Amino acid sequence: MRIDLHAHSRASDGTDAPAELVAAAAAAGLDVLGLTDHDTAAGWDEAAQAAEQHGLALVRGIEISARHRGRGAHLLAYLPDPDHPPLVAQLARILEGRRDRLPQTLARLQGLGIAIDADDVHAANDDAVAPGRPHVADALVRLGVVADRYEAFARFLNPGRPAYVERYAARLTDVLALVREAGGVSVLAHAWGRRREEVPDAEDLAGLAAAGLTGLEVDHQEHDPGQRARLRAIARDLDLVVTGSSDHHGTGKVDHDLGCNTTDPAEYERLMALAAEAARVAGRGAERPADAASRRAR
Ligand code: AMP
Ligand code: ZN
Ligand code: FE
Ligand code: FE
Repeated sequence: MRIDLHAHSRASDGTDAPAELVAAAAAAGLDVLGLTDHDTAAGWDEAAQAAEQHGLALVRGIEISARHRGRGAHLLAYLPDPDHPPLVAQLARILEGRRDRLPQTLARLQGLGIAIDADDVHAANDDAVAPGRPHVADALVRLGVVADRYEAFARFLNPGRPAYVERYAARLTDVLALVREAGGVSVLAHAWGRRREEVPDAEDLAGLAAAGLTGLEVDHQEHDPGQRARLRAIARDLDLVVTGSSDHHGTGKVDHDLGCNTTDPAEYERLMALAAEAARVAGRGAERPADAASRRAR
């Protein structure tokens, strides 16, 4: 059984529509796919229909933009009730922060003499519920200013570069509680990705586990073999579920092909069992939509 629990569609900054992403996952030989767009569940329904057609189990997820000790953190929320009002409100606030940032980013670029406007960004992806820097990057590519997303981030969009603008992110510990209340489970994405220092450290991760964290994404392209080994040891000590995933973005990220990292089936089963328990504690009696599909895949 091949399991990839973290991928993006055009609902955020992936380049495939949700149904295309699911078809690509089936073609790549995956049995289970986690759809985890940034800050939105907008792609779930389309992906679920496609998953049924392809006989693939879809795990409904959201990669929530959070902040912990002054640093950005991405939290993978799996199987939360997407209609839980406080979660809906928090996601709305984050999406508002994304929408507020866009004109500021464009103003910075215009200040650098680049002729770019909101229409250029929408032309790059009009479906995006969660507009982000990658969409600005794609517009810069279409305008011939840069060759690809990587050059756009390196020259303009990374922190410290001239078109970087901060946006609202939720407090990580608040989001952990919210996901719990919504009957879902949380996995910290690429905890040490693109970081020289290994923070959050073991002690900090213990605090997050106590605050409701269920798992750690260990096998991720941004973690080198030594980091993976150290994170795996921390996860073992804290009894956190270990996941592995591609963080696929279609053609938007090289070296992140579907299935390039996968999750151990036993860890997947543990995650789904803990999600079922979380749903029960949250008082969600009804069978969650992913269950039927995941049973078929077994
Ligand atoms: P935002 O959501 O607007 O804060 O943009 C962050 C997203 O951009 C990340 O989640 C990645 O998907 C993507 N990203 C970050 N750095 C790069 C990069 N150097 N090249 C391509 N995509 C990137
Ligand atoms: Zn992304
Ligand atoms: Fe991320
Ligand atoms: Fe991601």
